[in-house]
Amino acid sequence: MKDEFSLTFFGVRGSYPVPGKNTQRYGGNTSSLLLEIGGQPVIFDAGTGIIQSGRYLNSRLRAGQKVHIFLTHLHSDHIMGLPFFAPMFNPGAEIVIHCPDIPGINSRQVLEALFLPPYSPITLQGIKARLSFRPLAAGPEAIAVRLENDIEVSYVLHNSHPLLGVFIYRITHGGRCLVYATDVESPDGFDERISAFIAGADLLIHDSQYFDREYFASANPRKGFGHSTVSMAARNAEKCGVKRLFLFHFDPKYSDSMLEKMLAQARGKFKNTNLAQESKKIKLRR
Ligand SMILES: [Zn+2]
Ligand SMILES: [Zn+2]
Repeated sequence: MKDEFSLTFFGVRGSYPVPGKNTQRYGGNTSSLLLEIGGQPVIFDAGTGIIQSGRYLNSRLRAGQKVHIFLTHLHSDHIMGLPFFAPMFNPGAEIVIHCPDIPGINSRQVLEALFLPPYSPITLQGIKARLSFRPLAAGPEAIAVRLENDIEVSYVLHNSHPLLGVFIYRITHGGRCLVYATDVESPDGFDERISAFIAGADLLIHDSQYFDREYFASANPRKGFGHSTVSMAARNAEKCGVKRLFLFHFDPKYSDSMLEKMLAQARGKFKNTNLAQESKKIKLRR
């Protein structure tokens, strides 16, 4: 238990949720993943996937145990599940939201608005957990945050995502390392600064919103949308020397079978690739 380092995907889609028969195998919820590290829950992003994650966690939380939530950015597909996160209404829970400190934007107000009319009838008094916000300053160098159980979360800002960029997170514990790089675009591969930050990770979760043909399509090219193709993900995995790659943040119009085609393309370029799959738990071993 103390040595546990596991990852569960609870939402693997980008943009908006897509329930239905075409997305049953890999899931239709938007971005959220749960790490359980020595019994400590650490969540990344709060798309609709966090709703199921909250149900899973709520019955397991020990009195006084913190739940950390780190956000990559404030686009709605990464925050829209927050008002439905069950531990918010658990008086025994303590929730710390770590969010990018964006000049000119009060991230706390943005997130609190999700609980207020006209978006919601809940109001802030309805939140029963002890809730705190920690703004994360972004600089040119990686910055590290230390959590319970000797967990280190470090992050860098990647500027490719419109309009304000996105944080890439690197989580290390007990000699193992996972990198979460969603909503990134790098037609020429990551630059040296980002490659060095990701280098040698045991597991890389990388944006894979598009097939290459869609990204470059002459009718409606996706260049500049702030997302990757399957080839960009595979190339960055190779370049950064990671052990395993998980494709993530799938375009909502792609069916399960299209994702499997994407996987086959990725494996042609980086063998140890998998698709992020909702509710799938992966253990990081030493
Ligand atoms: Zn997104
Ligand atoms: Zn985004």
